[in-house]
Amino acid sequence: MKNTTVLGVPLSMIKRRELLETIEDTIRRNRCISLVAINARKIVRMVHEPDMKQIIMGFDIFLADGSSVVKAADSVVERITGIDLMEDICRCSKEIGARIFFYGASEESNQEARKRLKKLYPDMTVAGYCNGYEDADVMDKIQRSGANVLFIAKGTPLQEEWIMKHGKETGVNILLGVGGAFDVFAGQVRRAPVFLQKAGLEWLYRMICEPKRFKQIPELLEFRRLVKKEKKQELQKINGGKICKAKKLQ
Ligand code: UDP
Repeated sequence: MKNTTVLGVPLSMIKRRELLETIEDTIRRNRCISLVAINARKIVRMVHEPDMKQIIMGFDIFLADGSSVVKAADSVVERITGIDLMEDICRCSKEIGARIFFYGASEESNQEARKRLKKLYPDMTVAGYCNGYEDADVMDKIQRSGANVLFIAKGTPLQEEWIMKHGKETGVNILLGVGGAFDVFAGQVRRAPVFLQKAGLEWLYRMICEPKRFKQIPELLEFRRLVKKEKKQELQKINGGKICKAKKLQ
């Protein structure tokens, strides 16, 4: 699979439909892939924290989750959010043979998310679940469940660290970190309306709904600063006669 990059961080150049086919194929062949949703905050942390970079670079597929990431990418890439991919897998669970384990969030949120998703997609197979706070025996639960897909909703970096450390041992085929998605499906947190998602303003909506997220503003500003700096350096190279990425800048 081809990648493009943002600030040196890879983004997989794949369409949403193709990704679902890749997931189906991975399950059928009993292989294992890990997927990470890349947003501006994660990229800033990767730039500044070598440990974070090492963890994320261990994943197989890098979803272009954030709209600012899609805009800043070196090549055109389709935006695929972790929450949308999670819903695709639930909707097509039967068709692609997905038996899903829900790991993370509070007990109430985890339960409500499963209940509401099952109502939306009655064909979805839930193999098991474990909340994200009383999880000492989660490996045992996953292994016994017969799951082949694991959604892990513990936030960044907990979920990515967990996938890199324990993912292979679970025996599942698809490992996907989904952040606060269970809270959204449970109805505890609202997702931005589609027109705001399309306008690239989902982050603003999340901040207004969850004011604790205002503390993320410096990271988002840092992302803009780093992208601007990189573009400026590229322009300088072109002006100096070393045409590196002229095509992108036309
Ligand atoms: N969470 C968890 N265990 C923990 C810490 C967090 O299960 O030890 C859950 C939390 O309940 C929430 C999710 O992880 O459902 C984090 O959501 P958030 O939106 O903060 O994640 P982000 O997408 O911003 O990384």
